[in-house]
Amino acid sequence: MSKYIKYCRKCVIPETKPDLHIDEFGVCNACRSFGDRHRVDWKNRERELVEILEKYQSKNGENWDCIIPVSGGKDSHYQTIRILEFGMNPLCVTSTTCHLSKIGRKNIESIKNLGVDYIEVSPNKLIRRKLNRIGLKYIGDISWPEHVSIFTIPVRVAVQYNVPLIIWGENSQNEYGGPAADAANRVLTRRWLEEFGGLLGLRVSDLIGMEDIKKKHLIPYTYPRDEELKRVGVTGIFLGYYIPWDGYSNALIAQGHGFNTYQTTIEGSCVNYENLDNHQTGIHDYFKYLKFGFGRATDIACLHIRRGRISRQDGLNLVKIHDGKFPWTYLGKPIEEILKSLDITLDEFIKICDRFTNKKLFKCDSQGKLLKDKWGNLFKINNDNVEQELQYSIEG
Ligand SMILES: [Zn+2]
Repeated sequence: MSKYIKYCRKCVIPETKPDLHIDEFGVCNACRSFGDRHRVDWKNRERELVEILEKYQSKNGENWDCIIPVSGGKDSHYQTIRILEFGMNPLCVTSTTCHLSKIGRKNIESIKNLGVDYIEVSPNKLIRRKLNRIGLKYIGDISWPEHVSIFTIPVRVAVQYNVPLIIWGENSQNEYGGPAADAANRVLTRRWLEEFGGLLGLRVSDLIGMEDIKKKHLIPYTYPRDEELKRVGVTGIFLGYYIPWDGYSNALIAQGHGFNTYQTTIEGSCVNYENLDNHQTGIHDYFKYLKFGFGRATDIACLHIRRGRISRQDGLNLVKIHDGKFPWTYLGKPIEEILKSLDITLDEFIKICDRFTNKKLFKCDSQGKLLKDKWGNLFKINNDNVEQELQYSIEG
């Protein structure tokens, strides 16, 4: 990295995002890959999808046709609605989130009301809190157990109930950027699971012995063995590869089927229709900001810029107002309460924050101490490409 943070010229994503590449024209690979979407033959993709669904549909109606991992969010509503429209009989599976909100529970009930069989797997809460605390303290990721279990639990259920086809939503590599080779990766292999769905800085086996955690406590976070996956023939597809995918229209479609949005813009975000289920999400997103200099508002602004709904300047304004604010509350719950269940005080939390902050991205005083405003918010060294900032100041 140079002295300043470089941003994509089309969207507002910084080069510090892991696996992101900004090319010689100043455009990121996520924007490039989105630009390629107009070449996609969606009719043909849908035919491919129908072929796959027919192949896996239970011929005698004795078992479910597929598994849909659902959180209750806008995307899981959309997945379920569309898969039902294709005439499939899915088993929806939820891996209970870390600190479930009231609106999150309501939206899970709304999924059930779409007319599906449904299973919720709720890992041991005492162990989960330990894992949240370990994740936060050791790798700066409170949501580590969440991100592992949303992949492991549906795969375990697939094995348990002998249902080979898992229908995931979006392959995040397609829209959020990532290694080029994975942008077209649509089959969920075990290797894929481990690479993208699982390790995330900590291995499950590393946890044994920490805070009295034993192997038996980690069943929900462990993939089935290869023989079991082979016996059932577990595979998976990303629906976003086969049918057009847009978070905002997914939210509108979901609302037509009972999905609830939040009453106001969500803290750290710039919308009210996503990440509604887990009170710890604000902390998770804040750490992304501390490590990489961008938060949820940047992600969402980029999605809307790429789809031409707002200009880059509009996106910058949203980011400036919402991104990377200290997470005093999330979905209305004060941070002290969120931390209390993890046995972490606010002071300890702030020390953990400082430890994981990339000081190259934020302003420090002459002693190298991070500068903060009276609300505890940091100052990024630059909020847009530097040559453009100069231009604005000349114009202004
Ligand atoms: Zn971009």
